[in-house]
Amino acid sequence: MPDDTRTPLKAFPRAERAMAPEAALTAEERARILAKAAAFAPPPAVDEAGRRELVGLSREELAEAMAGIGEKPFRAKQLWHWIYHQGARDFAAMTTIARPMQVRLAEAFAVGRPGVAAEQTSVDGTRKWLFRWRDGQQVETVYIPDDDRGAVCISTQVGCTLSCTFCHTGTQRLVRNLGAAEIVGQFLAARDSYGEWPTPKGEEGRKLSNIVVMGMGEPLYNYENVAKALTILMDHEGVALSRRRITLSTSGVVPMMDRCGAELGVNLAVSLHAVTDELRNEIVPLNRKYPIAELLAACRRYPGASNARRITFEYVMLRGVNDSEGEARELVRLLRGMPAKVNLIPFNPWPGSPYETSRPEQVRRFAEIVNAAGYSSPIRRPRGSDILAACGQLKTDSERKRATAGGA
Ligand code: SAH
Ligand code: SF4
Repeated sequence: MPDDTRTPLKAFPRAERAMAPEAALTAEERARILAKAAAFAPPPAVDEAGRRELVGLSREELAEAMAGIGEKPFRAKQLWHWIYHQGARDFAAMTTIARPMQVRLAEAFAVGRPGVAAEQTSVDGTRKWLFRWRDGQQVETVYIPDDDRGAVCISTQVGCTLSCTFCHTGTQRLVRNLGAAEIVGQFLAARDSYGEWPTPKGEEGRKLSNIVVMGMGEPLYNYENVAKALTILMDHEGVALSRRRITLSTSGVVPMMDRCGAELGVNLAVSLHAVTDELRNEIVPLNRKYPIAELLAACRRYPGASNARRITFEYVMLRGVNDSEGEARELVRLLRGMPAKVNLIPFNPWPGSPYETSRPEQVRRFAEIVNAAGYSSPIRRPRGSDILAACGQLKTDSERKRATAGGA
């Protein structure tokens, strides 16, 4: 169908963009990614007593669970309100539900939270949790306060399949994907910690006002669970965070970027870090599969990429590796015509890391060049580095057991 392949992308309605010609080329690749995600699936969300976890179920699944015990759909609506608007963890606190029903629910279901293995607060107010799941695996979650707002930095995998050379998580192999319950649970637990229940009216002035999917793992290699979790967190009768307050960061899983844009429409951040394939192949090895040109093409077709919703390019500043003025100029050339913002992240060292942070004057020069070309280029101040909570410093001791080993 040669005509179809010439249809301009704009002619595709939003939901069909994932099927657009450019992306169709990679349908096979997308199937492979989804199959691999399934191989690293989380364990079933059931507690020690065999009760089914309600956190992380979609609205439809919650209604089905209620139908399973002979309850009408309104029961699901009530529960949704208690779980995601009121933050209730105990059926006995759900006062609009009659006592006998509370007891029945508590027999079959649970409203859980991750176990807190450790919690630390930095001198700058950043807070980090080490959460432990039922199977003993662990991830880290960080809350970064900022005046009258703040972002929760959420993890999506235990470890990471990718091994970017500057990233602490990258030194840990992928153990498994997190389930939707575990992804949502990180945000709910962070909110518990700041007592921000019920969900504040409106979006202004919330302590936990934003989500950045920038913790451990590559979110687009666990797309189904991430999408389900974010959909729950965006639901306007619950936690009610708008998609404009959620930013998903990817190292560049091109075939999944289209789906993310079409289905979730959250802000996109792309970990670029280098302006030549030669260097990016080395420091972000995923580049060997999806080189810079393909990555930038996927960015250009990301929906809603207007000036108000610019794509953020993350650029970790590694001394003498990627921080020259020539590279700044090349970056500007690559981004030309794209509504974009460049986040310059001075490299955050971790024990045994092989790089040094760029000198501050070099970061400033780099920023000036990018800025002069019309791109906002804030220099990210490291937050929580005293507790190893800054970008790229997260890592846990969770290990992949032999039984779960598969091709990473
Ligand atoms: N896997 C996703 C999201 C998690 S990493 C991704 O790679 O985008 C979040 C951001 O922190 C990415 O831009 C990542 O490249 C950056 N990062 C990783 N290690 C870092 C370090 N040691 N110092 C500064 N930034 C780092
Ligand atoms: Fe994984 Fe992102 Fe770290 Fe790369 S930077 S190893 S993709 S978590």
